[in-house]
Amino acid sequence: MKRRKFLASAGLAGTAGLMAGCGRQPETAAECAQNRAQEQFEWKMVTAWPRDFPGLGTGANHLAERIGQMSGGRLSVKVFGGNELVPPFEVFDAVQQGTAEMGHAAPYYWKGKIPAAQFFAGVPFGMTAQELNGWFYYGGGIDLWQETYAPFGVVPFPIGNSSGQMGGWFNKEINSLEDLKGLKMRIPGLGGEVLKRAGGTPQNIPGAEIFTALQTGTIDATEWVGPLNDQAYGLQQAAKYYYYPGWHETGTALEAIINQQALDALPEDLRQIVKYACQSANLDMLSEFMARNGESLAQLRESGVDIRAFPEDVLRELQRLTGEVLMDIVEDDPVSARVYESFTGFLNTVRDWSAISEKFILNLR
Ligand code: CA
Repeated sequence: MKRRKFLASAGLAGTAGLMAGCGRQPETAAECAQNRAQEQFEWKMVTAWPRDFPGLGTGANHLAERIGQMSGGRLSVKVFGGNELVPPFEVFDAVQQGTAEMGHAAPYYWKGKIPAAQFFAGVPFGMTAQELNGWFYYGGGIDLWQETYAPFGVVPFPIGNSSGQMGGWFNKEINSLEDLKGLKMRIPGLGGEVLKRAGGTPQNIPGAEIFTALQTGTIDATEWVGPLNDQAYGLQQAAKYYYYPGWHETGTALEAIINQQALDALPEDLRQIVKYACQSANLDMLSEFMARNGESLAQLRESGVDIRAFPEDVLRELQRLTGEVLMDIVEDDPVSARVYESFTGFLNTVRDWSAISEKFILNLR
């Protein structure tokens, strides 16, 4: 990492130091710590969203700000919107290659490269945001995620969660599974695989291109995120029906990905700051989505958008197809099999608790 620079006038001998990052000799442990504390690091964070985009972009900004504040400016992170440095779907490659030290995106964007990545974003008819966080922090989820990305020299952390998403925008009613046949729909990740199984044609295009694609008929339908983000792109002006629930994304985790070498080059205290700034930003983004989705939903309802639920039998069919799709992926890919086992194992330990606590109250409320 060339951007790592020393303020101290250190003649770096490059000899193997007694402590990571310390190379000058002779150097006491105290001198080493002092020298390391004077190092400054400048990182770039490439993102898959427009700069400052509500929830997603602002969440990336919060993460960068927090790292800067917590480190007293020793580690500064400059945020780039999609296409400012690299296109949205090249964020992973840019981080892997060291073009940027850090990225913010959604794990399922890399399913062509890492099929198992999709499971960390979430699974159709799967866990809620809160359940996913339980798995990440206390169920071995983060360790497994980091192990999955390790062969690529990239370290992931969960950064934010959109919470449950919406089912998407359609220009025709969805009354049966037949209505999904031949439908060209923007829907990424495992949900896209399920739509394909139902006879549709899933597409993945960056968020910023969705409105035009839908308006010009390049796609027939789309999902994006939820009221806050969908309204920000004006999708209500390009489609007639807004369906719920987001059966395909029940609480989608976003990720910060960090170049392993860049992370290793940091002194231990800065590595810890990055880790806990990520955890703080994870809560922050979920909270922002919770607060602002409600406001946007009210505005969409007031403006007369036709908001309706998928018929239950359509959802049950999609759930059945999800099971088939997951089994196929797991059979083909041992890494996905391990992640799936951990994911479903955790879900099975919290299922009953969620049912008699949150689910029960939500049904009554
Ligand atoms: Ca989505």
